[in-house]
Amino acid sequence: METVDVLVAGAGLAGLRTASLLAGQGFDVLVCERRARLDSGIRTTGIFVRRTFEDFPLPQRCLGPAVRRVVLYPPSLRAPVELVSTRDEYRVADMAGIYSAALGQARQAGARVRLGVSYPPAGVAARFTIGADGARSTVARRLGLDVNRHFIIGAEEEYPVTGGARPPTFHCVLDPRLAPGYLAWLVDDGQRAHVGLAGRPERLAGPLPRLLGSFAAEFPNVPAPAGPVRRRGGPIPIGGVLRRIACPGGLLVGDAAGAVSPLTAGGLDPCLRMAQLAAAVTGDYLRTGDASALRRHYDGRALRARFRTRLLLRQILSRIGTPGTVEAAFRLLRTPPGRAAAARLMFGDGSFPDIRVFPSVVADE
Ligand SMILES: Cc1cc2nc3c(=O)[nH]c(=O)nc-3n(C[C@H](O)[C@H](O)[C@H](O)COP(=O)(O)OP(=O)(O)OC[C@H]3O[C@@H](n4cnc5c(N)ncnc54)[C@H](O)[C@@H]3O)c2cc1C
Repeated sequence: METVDVLVAGAGLAGLRTASLLAGQGFDVLVCERRARLDSGIRTTGIFVRRTFEDFPLPQRCLGPAVRRVVLYPPSLRAPVELVSTRDEYRVADMAGIYSAALGQARQAGARVRLGVSYPPAGVAARFTIGADGARSTVARRLGLDVNRHFIIGAEEEYPVTGGARPPTFHCVLDPRLAPGYLAWLVDDGQRAHVGLAGRPERLAGPLPRLLGSFAAEFPNVPAPAGPVRRRGGPIPIGGVLRRIACPGGLLVGDAAGAVSPLTAGGLDPCLRMAQLAAAVTGDYLRTGDASALRRHYDGRALRARFRTRLLLRQILSRIGTPGTVEAAFRLLRTPPGRAAAARLMFGDGSFPDIRVFPSVVADE
């Protein structure tokens, strides 16, 4: 039997970052990932928000051109609301490159990463297990921690474009018939286009690929592919951070912990920030054996409380059932206060609470 300090299940961004940080603290870290290659089975669009590319050292070569322009459309697609920021707000990443760089960093820090190996790996005993195994976490079930119950499901097509949008633009269509509880999107940064939609599975008007096909055919701004079209998709947990995310046997991080903005469904910034906290509390726990500090510092209820407004807005968004309601909301969005509120939402500085929220953990490091 092989014994390790920390077993990390899942080599997404949450798992690889947590593994790097723990290996950097000197622990014996093993990552098991069921995918045989990290450049296959990619699920995310890969839109990074400003706070993330400002705060984390993402490889610049993997980030597409900056996007400052957002256009919001009602179901009729008439009189859209255009928002333009003075700052670089979004960059769409080449996710295969991002995962490859994160894998390299984890290995360089000393973590061992086994691809093509599902959790639980045979013949491995771990002092502590990190569940970074995504929205439907097996680790959460095995450790008796909370599991995600509220999802939207998303699908998108991604392809190279020539002569794409000038300026790079993020188009968002709010149409409850097409994407109930969320939106349909086109991001065209001039180099690549991502055309997708996501919604509550029980309210989708048909199979996702069919809905996506009709959106791609009918939305006027969709550019023609200039190369191979890749398809991505998967569930996105939108119920907010789960309450019980740690116990003496392990903890959850990233999508496994429900760490996705309930409103925007962005999970890349939360998973990177939460990985920092997870690595700090795990290191502390393995050194001291103080399980009560682990629960106190890695408390889903406390993190969840920071998302009250977003959870409330998510519930409102989920209930909007008719195009008429959205058209009425757009009348408000076109007013100066409405535009200001939309700009705050799309370009705001809010993000997942980072480790500074837990000063005692930082002090312990
Ligand atoms: C269609 C779509 C588009 C999205 N677009 C964006 C976006 O543009 N911006 C944004 O911020 N967020 C986006 N999100 C959300 C974001 O991608 C996720 O929140 C983020 O990638 C979560 O990272 P993670 O490491 O926690 O989980 P994941 O990236 O899901 O990684 C989990 C890993 O665990 C592995 N795994 C699962 N089970 C096991 C097991 N039993 N054993 C071993 N390994 C296992 C999986 O193969 C996977 O590699 C999107 C999500 C979807 C579905």
